Amino acid sequence: MNWQQRIEAALSERRAADALRTRHPVTQGAGRWLTLGNQRFCNFSSNDYLGLSQHPAVIRAWQLGAERYGVGSGGSGHVSGYTTAHQALETALAGWLGYSRALLFISGFAANQAVIAAMLGKTDRTVADKLSHASLLEAASHSPAQLRRFAHNDVGQLTSLLAKPLDGLQLVVTEGIFSMDGDSAPLGAIADAAQQAQAWLMVDDAHGIGVLGEQGRGSCHSQGVKPELLIVTFGKGFGVSGAAVLCSDSVADYLLQFARHLIYSTSMPPAQAVALSTALEVIRSDEGDRRREKLAALITHFRRSANQHALTLTASSSAIQPLIVGENSRALRLAENLRQRGCWVTAIRPPTVPPGTARLRLTLTAEHQPEDIDRLLEALHDGE
Ligand SMILES: *Cc1c(COP(=O)(O)O)cnc(C)c1O
Repeated sequence: MNWQQRIEAALSERRAADALRTRHPVTQGAGRWLTLGNQRFCNFSSNDYLGLSQHPAVIRAWQLGAERYGVGSGGSGHVSGYTTAHQALETALAGWLGYSRALLFISGFAANQAVIAAMLGKTDRTVADKLSHASLLEAASHSPAQLRRFAHNDVGQLTSLLAKPLDGLQLVVTEGIFSMDGDSAPLGAIADAAQQAQAWLMVDDAHGIGVLGEQGRGSCHSQGVKPELLIVTFGKGFGVSGAAVLCSDSVADYLLQFARHLIYSTSMPPAQAVALSTALEVIRSDEGDRRREKLAALITHFRRSANQHALTLTASSSAIQPLIVGENSRALRLAENLRQRGCWVTAIRPPTVPPGTARLRLTLTAEHQPEDIDRLLEALHDGE
């Protein structure tokens, strides 16, 4: 088989399984509406949970940041790309979340890859929740350390995997809120299990940060847990993009030596760091509280109404409300029907989720109105 044939075969296989992924060039894709061509859809597929991607103060901060610092950082943070804007954001994040240090990364994907690659050697073991994000599991499977996966949120199985003999060190990996299911991890019990085995805990709170708990401090803070490594990302609740690792002074200094995604990559534009600092101010403010309260009310409204429509929900109390429909073709058909009725939803299929659990991953944001949800549920009802 030559290269061309191999590529064609892989594509045909995806097509045959209704699993081919395609993209749509939208003119607006975050917030309440999604605009595609001259059509406007009510948007139930963005992760902009608080609507900050369109926030005037955040946009203005980015503009002012660009005027002051230019549009690019000019290099890796180890060379000349670490500015006072990056430093100010790191300091604010660390203070907000109660850590000594925060280190910025260009994305959550890069942060997870970098941390796992830098932390684990070949005598070590990663013990990860089976439903952890691709960026975590992929990094762990490329790592020379053993990878053991425990059944979703199963602390008993985690404990027994941690008890298996090992020469090296162990890292427990999980998420605050699971990206495809919307449920949360029992972080207290997981932290206890890790501590008893002298393992460290790494929590990726991509979907909880900004959105949950007092001042939006996220899943760990609201469950009273402080993992050794906390990953927060800025493409979701913050409405921007990028990520940070929260950790101790020595871990931060260690990552500055060994995290290759930091050393060999251009740092985020300083203007983006300025915008993120403003997004963080909004998140911590009364306005942040109002946005979180509105989102919570919409989630309650959605779940109550979905029950009345006899839809099967997952155990999610977050902004991620999946409807698991099973077959890929059914998920695609439903998504298409909903689009025809003016609602934009995404069908999520294997390998992103386990086979036979294709789903509509519905996401709610503080920008929605209750009538948007009513419209969605009616469309779902009619669309079957
Ligand atoms: C979205 C997501 C990431 C990736 O973050 P990016 O900043 O988008 O690269 C990592 N982990 C989880 C759990 C996510 O949902």
